[in-house]
Amino acid sequence: MNILISNCSILPMTDQTPRCFEGSIGIEGERIVLVSDDPQAVEAFRERHREGLREIDGRGFLAMPGLINAHNHASMTLMRSYADDIPLMSWLNDHIWPFEAKMDREDVRLGAELGVAEMLLGGTTTFVDMYWMQEAVGEVVEQTGIRAVLSATFTEARYADFERDFAAISDRYAGGRHPRISLMVAPHSPYSTSTEHLSRARELSERYGIGINIHISETLDEQRTIQERYGKTPIEYLYDLGLLTPQTLAVHSVHVNDADLEIMRRCGVSVVHNPQSNMKISSGIAPVAKMLDAGINVAIGTDGPCSNNDLDMWDEMRSASFLQKVSTGNPCVLPAYEVLKMATVYGARAIGMADQIGSLREGMLADVILLDLNKPHLSPQYDVVANLIYCAKSSDVDTVIVHGDILVEGGQLLRMDCREICRVAQARVAEIQKR
Ligand SMILES: [Zn+2]
Repeated sequence: MNILISNCSILPMTDQTPRCFEGSIGIEGERIVLVSDDPQAVEAFRERHREGLREIDGRGFLAMPGLINAHNHASMTLMRSYADDIPLMSWLNDHIWPFEAKMDREDVRLGAELGVAEMLLGGTTTFVDMYWMQEAVGEVVEQTGIRAVLSATFTEARYADFERDFAAISDRYAGGRHPRISLMVAPHSPYSTSTEHLSRARELSERYGIGINIHISETLDEQRTIQERYGKTPIEYLYDLGLLTPQTLAVHSVHVNDADLEIMRRCGVSVVHNPQSNMKISSGIAPVAKMLDAGINVAIGTDGPCSNNDLDMWDEMRSASFLQKVSTGNPCVLPAYEVLKMATVYGARAIGMADQIGSLREGMLADVILLDLNKPHLSPQYDVVANLIYCAKSSDVDTVIVHGDILVEGGQLLRMDCREICRVAQARVAEIQKR
C-alpha cells in the first residue's frame, strides 16, 4: 500500500538537537520515500500514486518513529500482577518459575498476543523478546505485523529445551529470511547458566551472525555470586568468555564499576536500561548518564510485564529521566530529547538496525506513529519533546504503521480483537493455575 500522511508535525529524530516541522510523509510499500515540507514534492508524490493512495489527514497529529522496546518477555503478560512486592529470588523461585513451568506453547502464544496488543496500542513498533518457545512468539509477530527480535533463552535447568527452541526459530528466521523478524541468542544471566553453555551461546552467535541478549549485573546478589565463583565482576567474566561484542545487549547493567564501563565501551556493547523493573525489584539505579557520557549506547526496555507491570514505553522514558535526575542530584542530566533517542535511534543501533528504523528519513522502513496532540495534558506546546517525555501516555497514540502497514488507527487495533484477547487471557490463567 502507498500512504500519504499530510500536514502533520514531524519529529524525525534525525538531528543532534530537537527539530520539529510541519510537513508530509510519503510511504511506498514498506519504505518511507518522502519526508518533506515542500508542497510541490508532496503534490508530485500524490500525483505519482494517485491510484489507490491512502491519505491520512495529519492535522493536529505528531508523526515520529515507532518506539523500540529493547527488552521484554512479552508472554509474561499472563503473570501480570500475579506476584508482587516480594524479594527477587523468592519472587523467581517461589512464584514466577513454578508458574512458568506449567506454561505450554499455547500459553506462550496467548501471552505474546496480549503483549503485542498492548505494545502496538502504545506506539511500540519493534520489541526485543527474550523467552522460551520463541517459535510461538514468532507466529504472533508474523500474524500481527509488529517487528521483533526473538531471543531464545535458557537457564541451566532448561538448557535442553533451549536447543530445541533455537533450532525451531533459526531455520525460519536466521539470516534475514523474514522481513520483520531477526534473532538473538539469550543466556538468561551469568549466575543461572554454566560457563560451558555461555560459550555455546557465543558459538551460536558467531555461526549465525546474531547478537547475544543477556541479563547482567542486575543485583548486588549477582555481583557477589559471580565474584565468589570466578573472582571477577559479571562484566569481566563475560568479557573473558568473548561474549561482549557490538552485537551484545547487556540488559540492566545496574551494578557496574568504572572498569566495567571501560570494558563495555571498548567492546561496543549496548546497554538496555529498564528503570521501572529495577525500581520495582529494588535492584538499584543503573548509571545511565555516566554510560552515555562515556559513549556507551543505551537503549530502553520495559522488561517483563510482571516486574513493571506494564509495557508502556512513555512511562519508562519518564522514569529513566527522573531516576537519573534524582540519583545524580542534577536536573540537567538525561534531558527529554536524549531519552527519546534511547527509545528510538539508540534502540535501533542496539539491534543493528540504525540504518533501517528509529528515525524518519527517506529510504528507511516505514515504522511511523501518530500522536494526537489535542489533549489537555499535552497543551500548550512550548516544547513538544518535553511534552512527549514528561506528559504523554500510550493512549495518546492514534495511528501505528509498521513496515508500511497500518496496524492501529483511531487508537484501535485493526488486525486484532482486543476484547477477545483479554477475555481468553483471563480464562487461560485460571486454567493454568489449576494445573
Ligand atoms: Zn528481563
